[in-house]
Amino acid sequence: MSHTFDHIVIGAGISGLGAAHLSARQGLKTLVLEASERVGGCIHSLRFEALDGFWIEAGGHTCFNSYGNLLSILDDLDLTRQVRPKPSLSYRLWKNGKRRSILSALHPLEALGSLPRILREPKAGRSVRDYYSAILGRRNYQDLLRHAFQAVICQPADHYPAEALFRRKPRRKDVVKAFTFARGVSTIPETLAAQSGLEVRTSQRIDRIEALTTGFRVQLADGQALAAAYLTLAVPPDAAAQLLPLGFDELRALVGNIGMSEIETLVLAVRREDLQLAPFAGLIGVDSPFYSAVSRDFLPDERYRGLAFHFRPGMLSLEEQVRVACASLGIIPERILAQAQVRNRLPALRAGHLAVVERIDQALAGKRLGLTGNWFIGISMEDALTRTRSEHQRLFGD
Ligand SMILES: Cc1cc2nc3c(=O)[nH]c(=O)nc-3n(C[C@H](O)[C@H](O)[C@H](O)COP(=O)(O)OP(=O)(O)OC[C@H]3O[C@@H](n4cnc5c(N)ncnc54)[C@H](O)[C@@H]3O)c2cc1C
Repeated sequence: MSHTFDHIVIGAGISGLGAAHLSARQGLKTLVLEASERVGGCIHSLRFEALDGFWIEAGGHTCFNSYGNLLSILDDLDLTRQVRPKPSLSYRLWKNGKRRSILSALHPLEALGSLPRILREPKAGRSVRDYYSAILGRRNYQDLLRHAFQAVICQPADHYPAEALFRRKPRRKDVVKAFTFARGVSTIPETLAAQSGLEVRTSQRIDRIEALTTGFRVQLADGQALAAAYLTLAVPPDAAAQLLPLGFDELRALVGNIGMSEIETLVLAVRREDLQLAPFAGLIGVDSPFYSAVSRDFLPDERYRGLAFHFRPGMLSLEEQVRVACASLGIIPERILAQAQVRNRLPALRAGHLAVVERIDQALAGKRLGLTGNWFIGISMEDALTRTRSEHQRLFGD
C-alpha cells in the first residue's frame, strides 16, 4: 500500500502537536488525529462567550523561561514576543474552612534541622513522601508539602516519583520568568494546529491500528483507512495501550500498567465587585475536597474574576462542589455569573517510574513507532515536549 502520509500523530495535546510541528518542519507530510472536538488536551483556556470571551485556565496555566523546548517552538511560530508576564501572586491554604498563609503551616525549626540533608539524600527512585520528609522533616511534609505537591499534580502525592516533580533546567534570560498569553495558554496549541504544512483532524474515532512491514495502517470508525511510514501515539497511557497494534504486546503490558488520575474541574466566573478577596494566585486545599483552585488574577480583567477548582473525583455532587467553592471565596452561589465543568486527567506516576520508561524505550528501539506524552519524564508541558523532542530525534534524526 502506498503511504498517504509520512507521519501520523494521534492526540492533539501539546505532546502530539509538538511532534507534528517538528516533523512538518522537516518537510514530512504530517497528519494529526484527535478524538475530541478541540485541540490542546490538558491545555484549555475556557472562554465564556456570554461574558465577551472572558477566559479562565481549566488546565495548564503557567509557562516558565526554563521551558527550552516549548520556547524553541514558540520562536518557530513567532509567538515568543507575544508572551504576557505573570506577576508573582501568592497561594493561600484552605484549611478547616479558613484561608491561611502558607507560612502558618511551616515548622521552621524542623526545616532548618533537616535541610542540610539535601546535600546527601539521593532523589532517584524515591517517592515524594520519602524524599521530602527526609530533607524538610516529617511534620513539614505532612502539614504543608504534601498539600502543596497535591495542588501541583492534582492527585495524592505520597507515592509520586520525587525525580518527576521538579527538575532544574537552564533559564532563557531574554524571556520573562513566568508567562501566559493575552488569550491564555491555549494560544499555543491553537497556533500549532493552525499553521500551514500540517493537517489536524478533530473528532476522529480510531477503530484499530495495524503494523505493516513499511509502516502503519490506521482504520477510522467512519470507514476511512490511512497509512503512514511513521506513527506517534501522543495520548494518555490507557489510550495508548488500547491503540498499540498487534505485535507490540510487551509495550502494551508496560504502558497499560501506568495509572491515570481523574480530576473534576469546576470553572467559575464572578463580577469583579462581588469578590472581596485581594488578588491571589489561588488556594491549596488542606484535607479539602479540592486539590487546588487556580485564579485568573494573573491577567486582571476590568469586569470579571475567575477560578478553576480542581476537585478530587467522585466525592461531591456539582451542587456540593459549588457550595464548597463559594465558601472558600466568601460568596454566595447566586453571585456566580457563569460556570463550566471540565474533566481533566493526569498520569499517576509511581516511584521507580524511570525504570519502566527504560524498558519502554528498549521495546521501542528500531521501531517506526513513537510514544510521547506527559507520562515519561514528568507532567509539565516542558516535560511532555522534552519527550516529544527525543522521540523525534530517534525517529527522524536532528
Ligand atoms: C489542572 C492542570 C494544571 C496544570 N498546570 C500546568 C502548568 O501550570 N504548567 C505546566 O507546565 N503544566 C501544567 N499542567 C500539565 C500540562 O498541562 C499537561 O501535562 C500537558 O499539557 C499534557 O499534554 P499531552 O499532550 O501530553 O497530553 P494531553 O493534554 O492529555 O493530550 C492528549 C490528547 O490525546 C487525545 N486522545 C486521547 N485518546 C485518544 C484517542 N483514542 N484518539 C485520538 N486522540 C486521543 C486527548 O483528547 C488529548 O487531546 C497542568 C495540567 C492540569 C490538568
